[in-house]
This record gives sequence, C-alpha cells and structure tokens, in this order.
Amino acid sequence: MTHDTNCIFCKIINGEIPSAKVYEDEAVYAFLDISQVTKGHTLIVPKTHVKNIYETKEEVASTLFARVPKVARAIEKAFNPAGMNVLSNTGEFAGQSVFHLHIHLIPRYDESDGYNAKWVTHNDDYTNEERQAIAEAISVNI
Ligand code: 5GP
Ligand code: ZN
Repeated sequence: MTHDTNCIFCKIINGEIPSAKVYEDEAVYAFLDISQVTKGHTLIVPKTHVKNIYETKEEVASTLFARVPKVARAIEKAFNPAGMNVLSNTGEFAGQSVFHLHIHLIPRYDESDGYNAKWVTHNDDYTNEERQAIAEAISVNI
C-alpha cells in the first residue's frame, strides 16, 4: 500500500489518528467524517494513498466504488434517511480539503439538515450541436 506520511487519512488508516470506524477490509477504510454534516456522514477511502479521482487507477477506483453500496445501505438501515448524497470533491476549488481520495456519503433527512448544494441548470443555453461539440471535446481525451 502506498502511503504519504503527511496525510491525515493515511494516519487514520494506520491508526495513528483515532477515528470512528464504520468498515474496513484489505483495500478500503470507512469512518465517520468528523464534521458530521448530517448524522451518519461517512467517508470511504482507499488504503492506497491517491490524491483525488484524476490520479486514481481503474483497479483502485473499482475496488473503492464496489464498497460504496454496502456502506450506503448500512447507513440507510441505521438511520432511515430520506435520501443520500454521494460525492467526491476534487481539487481545492471544488471543496477538496484532504488530498487523499474519499467518497462522502451524506444521508439526507430534511431541507435544513446541514447539506446545501443548490445548482443552476442551463438547459436552454446550448444547442444540440453545441452539446455534441462539448461531448466530443471530452471524448477525444478518453
Ligand atoms: P473534503 O473537504 O476534502 O471533501 O473532505 C474532507 C473531510 O475530511 C471533511 O469533511 C472533514 O470534516 C474531514 N476530516 C478532516 N480531518 C479529519 C479527521 O481528522 N478525522 C475525521 N474523521 N474527518 C476529518
Ligand atoms: Zn493518504
């Protein structure tokens, strides 16, 4: 396992920093986010240190994401939330503050539960041709 001695999540995985553990296996570690945006807010991280989604190899990503449903279902079973937001902030501008890949599982209870990520849609701003050009600009890089 690759790890970074200065990384707070590597220290949590190694037990150097205490955490409220939810799940662990050979490849991933899940624990309560200290901020508890909502009750049961959980982070799932790969044991291998990778900075964010851009730097993640397929095998690490597939192992990590494979664990997400069972942890999500366990939160659902524990607290019966109205819904759940599953997200990964990538880059400082997008709100990433710890640079070890992590998936947030944020159970949702009601409109004032502490989570707020409203976005504005722009459906009318693009023609079909423009959408096609945008899609192609991305797909040529895959
Ligand atoms: P990000 O802001 O990078 O998307 O998410 C990082 C998360 O890690 C934050 O929500 C923050 O509350 C959480 N966090 C930071 N330090 C610690 C810690 O020492 N222990 C735990 N359990 N969570 C932490
Ligand atoms: Zn790390």
